[in-house]
Amino acid sequence: MADLILKPGREKSLLRRHPWIFSGAIHHLDEEPASGSTVNLLSADGHFLARASYSPASQIRARVWTFTDEPVDREFFRKRIRAAIEMRRRLNVESDADSYRLIYAESDSLPGLIVDRYGEVLVLQSLTAGAEYWKDTLASLLLEETGLAILYERSDADVRELEGLQPKVGLLSGENYQLPITITEHNLRFLVNLQTGHKTGFYLDQRNNRLRVRELAKDRDVLDCFCYTGGFTVNALAGGAKSVLSVDSSAEALELCKENIALNDLPVSRHTALEGDVFQLLRKFRDENRSFDLIILDPPKFAPTAAHAEKAARAYKDINLLAFKLLRPGGILVTFSCSGGVDAGLFQKIVAGAALDAGVEAQVVEWLSQAADHPVSLHFPESAYLKGLVCIKQRPEG
Ligand code: SAH
Repeated sequence: MADLILKPGREKSLLRRHPWIFSGAIHHLDEEPASGSTVNLLSADGHFLARASYSPASQIRARVWTFTDEPVDREFFRKRIRAAIEMRRRLNVESDADSYRLIYAESDSLPGLIVDRYGEVLVLQSLTAGAEYWKDTLASLLLEETGLAILYERSDADVRELEGLQPKVGLLSGENYQLPITITEHNLRFLVNLQTGHKTGFYLDQRNNRLRVRELAKDRDVLDCFCYTGGFTVNALAGGAKSVLSVDSSAEALELCKENIALNDLPVSRHTALEGDVFQLLRKFRDENRSFDLIILDPPKFAPTAAHAEKAARAYKDINLLAFKLLRPGGILVTFSCSGGVDAGLFQKIVAGAALDAGVEAQVVEWLSQAADHPVSLHFPESAYLKGLVCIKQRPEG
């Protein structure tokens, strides 16, 4: 096993248990390790710090598997996978849904590995050279530890490029399963296309926030912006919304949204699907003096990293400002950001700026986040990416 020796003082983040080593922190390696293989991390004065996977192509050159000198082998990964599964069991996630995140990378001490469970199907996403190196081992352990038979790979996220890895999609185990599959979440059913859907197929992180929207939707005229396959739309209809207008730029997503409404026997007559650009349509609605009682804004990631924060802030402000204008007095805005580069404090400031410029008074009544099966390691705050605000537009006084 190669030794990776850090520059003096560069062990500080590791002592705080942050799992990443950037290329600039490295003094030298005693030999060039194979991509994804395990290396010992040593301080400049030769003290052992951790064992990590080596990513030669990435600026994040090493990611910690363990802060002890235990062997990194099949049994090591079995322990980590078991711990992740056991944690979800303790949380009783399965009482809410048959689909949830089983392994969330750094937050489950398995950097680069994401595994989502969709009913009887596991979906694996390998994001780093280290996860790729151990993929066959991880795949067979996942099947053993869950007792499931079908494992599908969705290693087609853009970040793989930074690791010098090609996209890979396909069945790793099992056969004859039907696509798309149907999942159940808080007693509603959704069709999920595991082959072409976003992320691993569905936005599992929004599960509880969708339920919250169901509770808020009764008798309201709802606008669901960036609706994808209808997660919020279906919940709003199930909650007794008077009408729901769902907007997305993807015709394929809107098609599944309509199918999901029918699948749950919800009133199709109360629903309208509109294909288009949310930024343009919100302006059009404003010009037409349209108004709504409940608006959901769940846009894609505008800022993957802090470097994109400023441009992202303008985009968030734009849609939130327009949404505040379109809301009736007493109406509710449920607004999200899934950008890692925009933290919760900044997001709230952006939404406050949007209300100010829209000339409305609003109160925040709830702070929302990713579901518990997407935990945040306290040592890796980067994994807290989803934040949401529930805001109420005040009625004019008098
Ligand atoms: N709310 C959804 C997830 C939204 S994901 C859920 O709970 O499942 C973001 C969605 O925004 C994607 O479906 C994507 O097609 C859509 N999108 C991205 N840019 C858009 C734009 N400018 N206008 C409309 N839709 C857009």
